[in-house]
Amino acid sequence: MEIERHEYDVVVIGAGGAGLRAAIEARQQGKRTAIVCKSLFGKAHTVMAEGGAAAAMGNVNPDDNWMVHFRDTMRGGKFLNNWRMAELHAKEAPDRVWELEAWGALFDRTKDGKISQRNFGGHEYPRLAHVGDRTGLELIRTLQQRVVALQQEDEKLHGDPEAYIKVFAECTVTRLLKDGDAIAGAFGYWRETGKFILFDAPAVVLATGGIGKSYVVTSNSWEYTGDGHALALLAGAKLINMEFIQFHPTGMVWPPSVRGILVTESVRGDGGVLRNSEGRRFMFDYVPDVFKDKYATTEEEGDRWYTDQANNRRPPELLPRDEVARAINSEVKAGRGSPQGGVFLDVSSRLPAAEIIKRLPSMHHQFKELADVDITKEPMQVGPTCHYIMGGVEVDADTGAASVPGLFAAGEVSGGMHGSNRLGGNSLSDLLVFGRRAGEGAASYVNGLAKRPVVAETAVEDARAEALAPLERSGGENPYEVHHELQRTMNELVGIIRKAEEVSEALEAVEKLKERATHTASPGGRIYNPGWHLALDLRNMLLVSECVARAALLREESRGGHTRDDYPKMSPEWRRRLLVCSATPDGAAVSVEERIQPSMRGDLLALFDRTELSKYLTEDELAEYDAVKE
Ligand code: FAD
Repeated sequence: MEIERHEYDVVVIGAGGAGLRAAIEARQQGKRTAIVCKSLFGKAHTVMAEGGAAAAMGNVNPDDNWMVHFRDTMRGGKFLNNWRMAELHAKEAPDRVWELEAWGALFDRTKDGKISQRNFGGHEYPRLAHVGDRTGLELIRTLQQRVVALQQEDEKLHGDPEAYIKVFAECTVTRLLKDGDAIAGAFGYWRETGKFILFDAPAVVLATGGIGKSYVVTSNSWEYTGDGHALALLAGAKLINMEFIQFHPTGMVWPPSVRGILVTESVRGDGGVLRNSEGRRFMFDYVPDVFKDKYATTEEEGDRWYTDQANNRRPPELLPRDEVARAINSEVKAGRGSPQGGVFLDVSSRLPAAEIIKRLPSMHHQFKELADVDITKEPMQVGPTCHYIMGGVEVDADTGAASVPGLFAAGEVSGGMHGSNRLGGNSLSDLLVFGRRAGEGAASYVNGLAKRPVVAETAVEDARAEALAPLERSGGENPYEVHHELQRTMNELVGIIRKAEEVSEALEAVEKLKERATHTASPGGRIYNPGWHLALDLRNMLLVSECVARAALLREESRGGHTRDDYPKMSPEWRRRLLVCSATPDGAAVSVEERIQPSMRGDLLALFDRTELSKYLTEDELAEYDAVKE
């Protein structure tokens, strides 16, 4: 069986914001770059991003700057963030947004013609650069246009538009290949024909996004099967923070066919309020102690904040997502939910209809089309939905390098930046900042190589045999059934609220599903066979789910996107402990070890006041703070 073979300097797996930005950088550094994506080019998850990209440009409130953004990000992540990543992100996000504008992005404007910025949960000032509620679409359009511009340049220079950057769309990577310890290439298949493809390349950038398809109720689309997380694990890299999953507070709950689809946080950022079945704005009852001085205590103050932020505190509907999701969960459990099992999100009584349609066109369209609800006239019903994974490949903050030489990661597949909880809007900016850095990191790694690594033929043969296995079995397990059971298990047992017995039960179930997945059969041949594709994706979803569950069982506290019913408080004992997952090359065994988070640099610590830090940090860290302040 012939295998199509290509040679590149850098292979970027994923064509969302992170992948495109990485590829642009690698090409700009003179590297021959392949972009491989399993979806159509342009249909990455990034396209669905609605609210905007967070960047402290200070266009709407001049008091905003990188230090305020850094503080907000660390608070949002409950101080478990890789602080160097949070620092780079806060400092570089504005440049990345301005760069996008220079490349042709058309952001909404302020009255005086600057890029407009909107409010979002956990951000002290209006900070999200946006294009209505279709920001991701504009981001992807602009980055794709930049790729095309570079290809036009290459056509002029080399007579071939694809001489230095080429897109391989609808092409799924199933294995990373190594030469000794180092990356040597990637193996995959064309989704349409089922034919195999091999990339010889010394550097691979993973930019494959998240893992949401391991859960039943999710805002994520079909390609979010944790492929990059699993590819990294199987290649010997490590994943951190896997227990932290963000359940976005507002997904659609009705009708059942659209359950989980996202209702953007911009609805609350632009004035929408949450009410229970008794009509009460219940978020005022759920402001945790660590945030008490930053949020309004009355509806009047919260409402005044939209027009006068200097003299009022923000409404609690704009608390970080983990807080709002847990509050909604509690209201529904207490019997104060909406008829279809969510709560009410109302913007109709808060803004004129024309303004709603102007600011939230996609939401208006989405509810009209999918639920026959006119959001300019009536409230929406919403509830938590699995949205984002904070955990991912452990990388060097400055270069995006993973622990395996030649492997890099950026975007949602990487871990550390967001700690235990991501603030809305911080993903799009993360993609741009760390996509660029990973592209640059990969290019300089290639520059430093004395010789190119070589793919071993036995590794290619193994990858091919692994990929063909589900086609060669008959009468085995149905991959759709295994998938459905995994989704149900994760949703019910490792969901928004966790307990030791349930997570242990999930681990036993995942173990059995792993065994069943080795017997899946996908009749129908190699040509566009979605059952086969799913059978291959299952390996990844199961591995990643196991990491999530193992880490969730070990972390005996509640922090950000990890809530333990049996350990409901944030614990100082866990404050600096990171959980790091690794796996054997066949994925059969996953192990988790603890790592102590490095102390924050003194000048960054000094950006906070002691009273606030004392809510999060250990005594040792506070002593370091005192020494810096002396
Ligand atoms: P993606 O954009 O998902 O790209 C992943 C790419 O990897 C795709 O091209 C996919 O085809 C490819 N891929 C995956 N596996 C393989 C494989 N095995 N082989 C080859 N290719 C593969 N964040 C914000 O900051 N602001 C927002 O307003 C916002 N709104 C959101 C709204 C919705 C509905 C959702 C779901 C998310 C939102 N987010 C938002 C989060 C944000 O959109 C994502 O975290 C981000 O887009 C992820 O980008 P990425 O580049 O890491 O991955």
